[in-house]
Amino acid sequence: PTAGLCAVVTGANKGIGLAIVCHLAERGVTVVLTARDESRGTAAIRYLHSVGFTNVLFHQLDVRDPLSAASLARFLAGRFGKLDILVNNAGASGVIVNVEGLKALNIDPASWLSGKATNQVQGVIEHTYENAVVCVDTNYFGSKRVTEALLPLLRLSTSGARIVNVSSLRSELRRIPDEGIRAELSDVENLEEEGIEKVLGRFLEDLKEGRLEAGGWPMMLPAYSMSKVALNAYTRVMAKRCPEMRINCVHPGFVKTDINWNTGVETTEEGARGPVMLALLPVSGPSGHYFDKTTMAEF
Ligand code: NDP
Repeated sequence: PTAGLCAVVTGANKGIGLAIVCHLAERGVTVVLTARDESRGTAAIRYLHSVGFTNVLFHQLDVRDPLSAASLARFLAGRFGKLDILVNNAGASGVIVNVEGLKALNIDPASWLSGKATNQVQGVIEHTYENAVVCVDTNYFGSKRVTEALLPLLRLSTSGARIVNVSSLRSELRRIPDEGIRAELSDVENLEEEGIEKVLGRFLEDLKEGRLEAGGWPMMLPAYSMSKVALNAYTRVMAKRCPEMRINCVHPGFVKTDINWNTGVETTEEGARGPVMLALLPVSGPSGHYFDKTTMAEF
């Protein structure tokens, strides 16, 4: 049933994105591997061709650049005249971490990331406003930008299009201390992009003014968490708007990749399982849900 399907995976030159491309290609899907950097993307394609995948091709895509998304849409329209699967995988952490500095403070980077050690990380972990803006623009606005550019082609899929938004455990609403923010973002009946973006605007303002704790925002990887919370909310908005599609978001697991300074414990192959399962959902499958790996979970 997967023959003839075509897919786009963003941020796929390495990490979980590259593993998703392999899994989909193995199942006979034609996959457009995208990357913001042409040379990193074509190197990944060369590697895939060398190990026998012939049904993968490259197109440049920087999810922060609307022109780049438009150019990808034109390419797909000319080549396939439709799109069946979009995996919004590209992501940024929003922080710069000096891993050696953490170790010097006797803090294990993996336990810090998992929230077990939150003490004394000033000067070692940089949460700048500029990094937060890049993070939100990549993880939330980037996914929205690419989705909007490719939506007309997804609507032309004859096999029920699927969108997979690669999210994170950090997106879970229970991690936001403020009840009002949680309520705003879970009001699925009334939620639209405008509401989501107002919350993000308030978050960035509070971050800039040093008011995160007082504002009731998550203190652990704040920009990353809020960008993924927003991505989950967008998933629900889009699933409601496009009932003919399967649109879900997923935490891939704690995977050893560059985004967590290779402190993760699962392989990229394992991390790809949830996203691939959702990318290949049958038309009767769920939509508008959050998955923790391959299991449906609470937002
Ligand atoms: P990697 O750092 O290995 O991969 C991130 C990818 O995103 C890279 O290909 C990177 O490209 C790309 N990217 C960043 N910015 C842009 C942009 N503006 N345009 C296009 N591509 C961009 O990390 P992972 O594979 O782990 O991350 C994949 C997804 O999984 C992310 O969304 C992440 O948040 C999510 N995730 C990962 C977890 C983990 O434990 N690893 C846990 C929870 C979620 P480049 O090489 O050019 O930098």
